[in-house]
Amino acid sequence: MKPQNDLLSATGTTIFTVMSALALEHGAINLGQGFPDYDGPEDVLKAAADALFDGRNQYPPLSGVPELRAAVAQHNQRFYGLTIDPKDEVLVTSGATEAITACLMAVLNPGDECVLIEPLYDTYLPVVKLLGAVPKLVRLTPPDWALPRAELAAAFGPKTKAILFNTPMNPTGKVFTAEELEFLAGLIARHDCYAICDEVYEHLTFDGARHIPLMTLPGMRQRCMRVGSAGKTFSLTGWKIGYITCDRTLSANVAKAHQNLTFTTPPNLQRGVAVGLLKDDAYFAAIGTSLQAKRDRLAKGLADLGFGVLPSRGSYFITTDFRPLGFNGDDVAFCRTLTTEAKVTAIPVTAFYASTDAPSHYARFAFCKGEAVLDEALARIGRWLAERGAR
Ligand code: PMP
Ligand code: GLN
Repeated sequence: MKPQNDLLSATGTTIFTVMSALALEHGAINLGQGFPDYDGPEDVLKAAADALFDGRNQYPPLSGVPELRAAVAQHNQRFYGLTIDPKDEVLVTSGATEAITACLMAVLNPGDECVLIEPLYDTYLPVVKLLGAVPKLVRLTPPDWALPRAELAAAFGPKTKAILFNTPMNPTGKVFTAEELEFLAGLIARHDCYAICDEVYEHLTFDGARHIPLMTLPGMRQRCMRVGSAGKTFSLTGWKIGYITCDRTLSANVAKAHQNLTFTTPPNLQRGVAVGLLKDDAYFAAIGTSLQAKRDRLAKGLADLGFGVLPSRGSYFITTDFRPLGFNGDDVAFCRTLTTEAKVTAIPVTAFYASTDAPSHYARFAFCKGEAVLDEALARIGRWLAERGAR
């Protein structure tokens, strides 16, 4: 038989699926894959359920149902002061995953360079490569995940077509500052390129950290494709409803990418999300506040157990340095052992790097879980550590 697609043949199953399967096999508490163990708001669920029975279950419009596009535009105005035309500047997709792929497809030609920031979400690199584009990787510097400005500037050149980056950031919990975004905007303008802005955790920020869309900076309105996800904003990760906000000069190509990927997205879920995006400010403030308490609970518990806990100012995640525990092995070994012996699952952070010389002493924990679950996970790790110490 002839070989199948080389890139996909060389790509492993996503770490989130691998670790969730291992958690299930060993009866472990899954703090690996990032999904809440609670459902989103009842009015959103009810709107989607009701929408199944109102006779509108055939293909919805390619760019999304009008009420969701209007709600996305209104949300952009309310939170970021962006004036967006719901007809021509919003596109609904099947999750942020599809949205990111569609945005990359919209601008990249084979041979174009695309700047990516490590640690990076696991779908970015395979998609950039499948499009025949050339990834230019720049690494943040742990433990504070600082942006290495000189290296970032050096990654841009005459062939750069786009940058794809994520803030608030998975897995680091970094929230890009206004100064960092200004620096990025300068590079993007100077090199005449586009930005795909993965902002799925836009409302999940802590300690007063403010999420700033790059799209709001001077000169960036026409260069940015801003991606949101109902999965994160409404704790409904299984719904897979994403939304892209971009200038009308970009949206035609993004829509053509979407028409070739999925064409449309389930109409009842779209209508549920439309209700969600119109919820009052208190809802959006509360999701960050309640997650911050969960972060604090897990961060303190892990620190008390001896982990080095890195700061997280946004997202569902904290990264931890497990070296102080005296574990002899890399992050993959640590996360597997934690799953099989302690019965708690985390994600090895090397999964967010392209090459093998990545830092291999970090494990990522998701804290979007009930308090009792977080407490039980901590108790299990505590018992495991005590047993190891006694051995
Ligand atoms: N980007 C990042 C940074 C993520 O963590 C996720 C996780 N779900 C996604 C994109 C994908 O979002 P969706 O589930 O809406 O496809
Ligand atoms: N975004 C989630 C995470 O980072 C996982 C999504 C997935 O499983 N593909 O854990």
